[in-house]
This record gives sequence, C-alpha cells and structure tokens, in this order.
Amino acid sequence: PNKDAVDIGDLNDYSKKHFPLCMRHLHEVLRANHHLRHSGRLIYGLFLKSIGVLYEQFIEFWRQEFTKIMDNNKFDKDYLYNFNHQFGKVGKMVSYAPYSCIKIIMGNVGPGEAHGCPFKHWDVSYLKTKLNEYGGTQESIQEVINLVTNGHYQIACTKYFECAHGQPPVNSINHPNQYFEESMTLIKG
Ligand code: SF4
Repeated sequence: PNKDAVDIGDLNDYSKKHFPLCMRHLHEVLRANHHLRHSGRLIYGLFLKSIGVLYEQFIEFWRQEFTKIMDNNKFDKDYLYNFNHQFGKVGKMVSYAPYSCIKIIMGNVGPGEAHGCPFKHWDVSYLKTKLNEYGGTQESIQEVINLVTNGHYQIACTKYFECAHGQPPVNSINHPNQYFEESMTLIKG
C-alpha cells in the first residue's frame, strides 16, 4: 500500500485539523446533507484525490454518504460516472487538477451551493460565527475579519492557518492542497 494514502476513516479528524475552511465546510455539509451540488462534488472530490485518497476509497466515501438519501442504483446511475470522471477513469481519461484558491475565489456560488472560499463568499457575520465555533480567539478572529473586509482573502486564510497551528505556513496560502500539506508537515512532525 501507498504509505501516503489517506484513509477515508480519518477525514472527519483531518477536516478539523488539516483542511482549509473551504474544504472543511464542504466536508461538513456533505456529512450533514449526504449530498453536494455539482461544483461542490467536483472541488471537494479533486481535493480529496490530491491529498491521497485512493480510487476505491474515494468511490466508497461518496457512496456511503449519498446512499444515506438514495439507493445504490440511483447513485450508480446518476453520480458514479461523475466521480469516475474526476479520477480520469472514464470520458477523456484525464486526471484533473484540483482547484487553486484563485479559481475558487473567482467562482460563482449559487443558492444551495457549499463550494467557494469562505473568506470571499460568506457574509462576515456568518464567518465570525464559524470562526468562533471552530475555537478562534477574539483577537485572531478580528484580525481575520479585518483582512476579509479589505479584500485580502488568501492573507486571511494564511492568518487563519497561523492561528490554528501556532505558526504561519512556510508560504502564504494559494492552494487548498498546499494548506493541507503544510498543516500535515507541522502537526505530524
Ligand atoms: Fe480555501 Fe484558498 Fe479560500 Fe483558504 S483562501 S479557504 S484555501 S479557497
């Protein structure tokens, strides 16, 4: 087995410790609703693939959640192709790259959709509530909010990383997978 493979049984724990807010939110919405809309599936799926979730586990993960609200046949018929496609198993057989911060920040988020950059797309009061819930200090939350209101979304994310880990990332955050990798190095090491 691949020593860097990520086990889907660890995702709840990892989402709290190692995921940037955008991916933590997608994970939590998926766990709560057992469904994500198309862009959310794509963005979270490509992120999971890139952190090291292997193909069989990847499909199992989505199937476990989706079949809480639909049967296996419906999952196979309406969703399986889409997840296989992300892994380059069907269609053009291309392994797609995970989304960068800029791509996520520039994207549109419609009603009922859970993707997007929380620092860009959430309203400030909701962001504050979530940061409180996730255990930020008042001072650090205010710093993050000040950056957000000045349009510095990735710097806000970098500050959030620093608050969550007690030290800044080596490079300022420009990719959700970079956030994950830097977090894993710090907390594991
Ligand atoms: Fe995700 Fe990037 Fe936004 Fe951070 S700045 S929450 S990694 S999209």
